[in-house]
Amino acid sequence: MIQLYQPLNFMGMVYREIKQAIIDIEKMFNVLGREAEIKDVPDAKPLVVSAGNVRFEDVRFAYEPARPILKGISFEVPAGKTVAIVGPSGAGKSTISRLLFRLYDISGGRILIDGQDIREVTQASLRASIGMVPQDTVLFNDTIRYNIRYGRWDADDAEVEEAAQLAQIDHFIRMAPKGYETQVGERGLKLSGGEKQRVAIARTVLKAPPILVLDEATSALDTHTEHEIQGALDRVAKNRTSLVIAHRLSTIVGADEIIVLDQGRIAERGTHAQLLAHGGLYASMWNRQREAEAAREKLAKMADTS
Ligand code: ADP
Ligand code: MG
Repeated sequence: MIQLYQPLNFMGMVYREIKQAIIDIEKMFNVLGREAEIKDVPDAKPLVVSAGNVRFEDVRFAYEPARPILKGISFEVPAGKTVAIVGPSGAGKSTISRLLFRLYDISGGRILIDGQDIREVTQASLRASIGMVPQDTVLFNDTIRYNIRYGRWDADDAEVEEAAQLAQIDHFIRMAPKGYETQVGERGLKLSGGEKQRVAIARTVLKAPPILVLDEATSALDTHTEHEIQGALDRVAKNRTSLVIAHRLSTIVGADEIIVLDQGRIAERGTHAQLLAHGGLYASMWNRQREAEAAREKLAKMADTS
């Protein structure tokens, strides 16, 4: 009897796992406020990333037809280079990252990866090639190990833990009741915004994708932790095509190109030095952040001496 039951149990397990994976994807879409309505074209081919060149050509997009969000955006991230996008809140920065991941289809223009229109390749291959650290990370109601391994299913335990160390979350996990087997989510361990960001960074370190998209990936971290993790992120980004949406401008001064987005249009573009010399929107954002930092340091010093 036992002999007969085992294969059935095994089938049941595989079925449950497949079902779980589907539920996870649906959950991710739901949390993103999105139905899974983007479909592969009938003859979709897998994306072939040879060099990793990303190109936006006159990209237009609106969530609702009456309110255009991106009004003709063109830029290129040459293979292996880093392009940063900065700009006021609501400018459309996160939207650009969502469009590259094809969470929505654009209403005009083209998005190309190594010459292939992302609408013509399979979504699975597109998403496998891009490592995205979103502004708000979604965690699954599963173990913390599962949540990190999500970056690459065939990673072994040692690789999962190494990624967690690089993302500075390993220590936190080891303090949890069951370590890496601790459940996270509604009925488990609750993680702060910064801890979730570090899980997302660990996933991406593990995935080591050819194309990297960081959307304010360290915004919920204090400056000290941000500085520590920046090293891990820089290592992942090295020789990879990277699109970095930056909150703190000090983290992107070395970008090959900085694009300043304002109300769905590119207002300025250039290197950090060129944009400072230009004395426009970027220069005023930079000066404002420098003043705020100086004031914070002064306050911290006063608190220390009192
Ligand atoms: P940023 O990242 O630069 O702060 P976003 O790309 O997130 O800006 O948003 C750009 C604009 O699109 C904002 O006005 C925002 O309110 C709007 N928006 C973002 N997501 C949605 C959505 N799912 N539905 C409708 N409007 C949205
Ligand atoms: Mg954003």
